[in-house]
Amino acid sequence: MSVYLDHAATTPMLPEAVQVLTENLVRTGNPSSLHASGRAARRTVEEAREHLADALGARPSEVVLTGGGTEADNLAVKGMFWARRLDHPERRRILVSAVEHHAVLDPAFWMAEHAGAEIVLLPVDDEGVLRLDAVEEELAARGDQAALVSVMWANNEVGALQPVTELVSLARRYGVPVHADAVQAVGQVPVDFAASGLDAMTVSGHKVGGPGGIGALVARRGLALTPVLHGGGQERGVRSGSLDAPAIASFATAVVASVGARDATSRRLGALRDDLVARVRATVPGAVLRGPADASHRLPANAHFTFDGCEGDSLLYLLDSAGIECSTGSACQAGVPRPSHVLLAMGVDEDDARGALRFSLGHTSTAADVDALLEVLPGAVERARNAGLATHTDRSRVPASGRVA
Ligand code: PLP
Repeated sequence: MSVYLDHAATTPMLPEAVQVLTENLVRTGNPSSLHASGRAARRTVEEAREHLADALGARPSEVVLTGGGTEADNLAVKGMFWARRLDHPERRRILVSAVEHHAVLDPAFWMAEHAGAEIVLLPVDDEGVLRLDAVEEELAARGDQAALVSVMWANNEVGALQPVTELVSLARRYGVPVHADAVQAVGQVPVDFAASGLDAMTVSGHKVGGPGGIGALVARRGLALTPVLHGGGQERGVRSGSLDAPAIASFATAVVASVGARDATSRRLGALRDDLVARVRATVPGAVLRGPADASHRLPANAHFTFDGCEGDSLLYLLDSAGIECSTGSACQAGVPRPSHVLLAMGVDEDDARGALRFSLGHTSTAADVDALLEVLPGAVERARNAGLATHTDRSRVPASGRVA
């Protein structure tokens, strides 16, 4: 049995979400059909929508169901950009933090290549936290040209929580709508859409114990969004495509359960994570915790380290062969390992950034998982360092990804 320490990538489905999914899988009926089976499926969807809205501090009519977090991020970035430019062509600047997930960064860069957008990469500090002073400077100078701001609620690599409320009040002064990718935040920290003042917010099913391939963009009523998918006109015409009633019901069950258990889970996982961090620091010389030092500014289940003189990939494979599953957090393009754009944006040296490893806990994590990791990690780091010595010179010539540096 392997030890799973990669819950931020995807977390096992909750039993109640599995149950709801399987119960609904055997039912027939397109929620758009008018007959009895269709109406039953529609009821399932609308009840799920109400539960989702309730758990996220939103209204049911604000929940636009999508095929996952990536699609919701694409809809937010592209949909808000196009809608805002309709009668104001000068609004072409997309402000995104330099540590966004690729599901936000890539559509933004795509819009720059294909739709006349200009990208403003908002800087972060050395803990990965957005620099509000830079946002203020940009908006004060060119706020009239801003189409939207997109800054994630919590970073998926280093776990940094972003100052969403402060960002919203700042952007509001300039009349610029704000989107936040809350994929990693829901179920871990309090997330209330209405209280946040956000215009749009992304949520994903498989990060909270629901199925993959289902998610939502919570979009404030009255927010103009140009559709990205065209077809049957579902979801108020904003997102066409037949609704997947079983997945939606299961997704809502997982969101409700994970939000309901949030306080207890976060306390338990926070303590486990603190133990993991303390023991890694005590047993692995040269391990550097990245992201916020203050635990209250970081996701409770996240621990992210760099191990100097190591390739994160080598370390990952060594740990995997010892039954420990985790992640480097960095993008691998065309088989070439690249240092993480998040770490580079935080000012981490390229060589150090190559030795990154993320351990993320979740609802199935136990103290035994942390013990198992600590049993093998010191030896694995030593072996990866020896291997790193051999390849270091070659690797250091590989350039960093130019898109976000
Ligand atoms: N945003 C963040 C912060 C993520 O961590 C992920 C998943 O890795 C996504 C978006 C993409 O979500 P999905 O896998 O549902 O498309």
